[in-house]
Order: sequence, then structure tokens, then C-alpha cells
Amino acid sequence: MSLLELEDVRASYGHADVLHGISLTLPDNGATGLLGANGAGKTTTLRAISGMVRTTGRVLFEGRDISGLGPDRTAALGIAHVPEGRGTLGQLTVRENLLVGAYRRKDKAAVSADLDYCLDLFPNLAERIRSHAAALSGGEQQMLAVGRAFMAKPRVMLLDEASLGLAPSTARRVYDAVVRLRQEAQVAMVVVEQNANLAFSVVDDATVLETGRVALHGTSSELLGMDAVRRAYLGG
Ligand code: ATP
Repeated sequence: MSLLELEDVRASYGHADVLHGISLTLPDNGATGLLGANGAGKTTTLRAISGMVRTTGRVLFEGRDISGLGPDRTAALGIAHVPEGRGTLGQLTVRENLLVGAYRRKDKAAVSADLDYCLDLFPNLAERIRSHAAALSGGEQQMLAVGRAFMAKPRVMLLDEASLGLAPSTARRVYDAVVRLRQEAQVAMVVVEQNANLAFSVVDDATVLETGRVALHGTSSELLGMDAVRRAYLGG
């Protein structure tokens, strides 16, 4: 059984139809990418999975149709959405933000172990553990957003443009941590990323969206073998 499956998912904002029947499959502990131009519907697809937009079609998580559940309930089931813009809580410290991520969890020892793991994953956050999130750099805030999502102990993380606005070396560090989360913590990933080099360092396969439709799907090596994909997403 797949961990996550979208079947002919459609979504609109008011009268504007944005997704026109998206289907995709994510195996347990898999990682898949969503590529496409601005406005193609990548963010909306993530929002459809986490229940932040109304959809038709089916969104199956561990075999169960979760469409219509809403973001709180999908989060409780193990879907951690890391939105573009990060959404960390500026007035709380790094430590407090990370613990907010774990607020549903009862096992204090496991939460404490995961906090240690998170600080090992992001040494920058360990150094700034008592700083307010608002005082962090953009890269540190992105690390905090990923760390906070991990602290919920999710089955799958939905990562939206995690490299946006970051220096290349900082973006690389964020993605190195994402690779570790997948490998060491068995977190499956749906990755929306403009920087295809970063995306392909994590994902096994990817779907290219064009105006709310699936234009192309393939394994990373299949897609990287296509001139059109390399030109569009890797600068030639
Ligand atoms: P980007 O990289 O620019 O975020 P995207 O592929 O993630 O692009 P979406 O953000 O999913 O695309 O947007 C898909 C379409 O829906 C676009 O035409 C966008 O203008 C429109 N859209 C997105 N959010 C809203 C909203 N809240 N209300 C109305 N239209 C929206």
C-alpha cells in the first residue's frame, strides 16, 4: 500500500479552477518532487494534501480517504506541512518553537531525544536555542520550520520551496538535513522546489505540473535524461 495517493484531485479558489485532476503516488519512506513554473499548482497540491483547500477526487493517506479533514486533523495523522514563508513563531525562542511542533506528543523522553536529534541535524539552531525566532536569519528560520515539523514525528513532510531566498550553501545545508530525515528518521517527503538540483538530491521521482495538470512524471534519472527538463529546471 502507498503511504499517500492522490486520485484525480481538483481544487479551486472561488471560481478559479487551479488543479484539474492531479494523480500521484508516494510509497512508504519515499520522496517525490513537484516541479513546474510559477502558478502551475505545486503549492495548491501540497495544500490539497494537508487539507488547507477543498478538493474533489480522493486523497488517500495510509489507504484512508482524508479529503475534507482539514489541516489540524491531517497534522494529527502524521502529515507535516512546511509552508513557503516558514511560519515560525517570532516571539518564541528556537527551543519553544521546536517544542510547539511536538505539542501533540505525550512521550516526554521521546520528544527530548528528538529535540537532541534535531539540534544535531541543525547545529545552527543549537547555537541559537534561546534566541527568539524573529532574530534568526532566513536560513535559520527555514531550518527551524523543518525542525519544528520533524518534532511532530510525521510520516510525511510536505516541503514548499525550502530554498527560497537562501544562499546556495545554506540551501544545501537545509537539504542535507532533509536527506538525513528521510534516511535516518524514515520521514517520507513531497518536495516542491524551484531549484531542481536540490530537489533531485532528495527525491526518487518527480511530477511536472503545467497549469494544474500532470505534464510529465518520471524517475529522477528519466527526468534528468530529458533535454526539455534539463533546460527548464537545470539551466541547460
Ligand atoms: P508558485 O511557485 O508561484 O507558488 P505554484 O505552482 O505553487 O506557484 P500555486 O501557488 O498552487 O502555484 O497557484 C496556482 C494558481 O492558483 C495560480 O494561478 C495562483 O494565482 C492561484 N492562486 C493561488 N493561491 C490563490 C488564492 N489564495 N486565491 C486565488 N488564487 C490563488
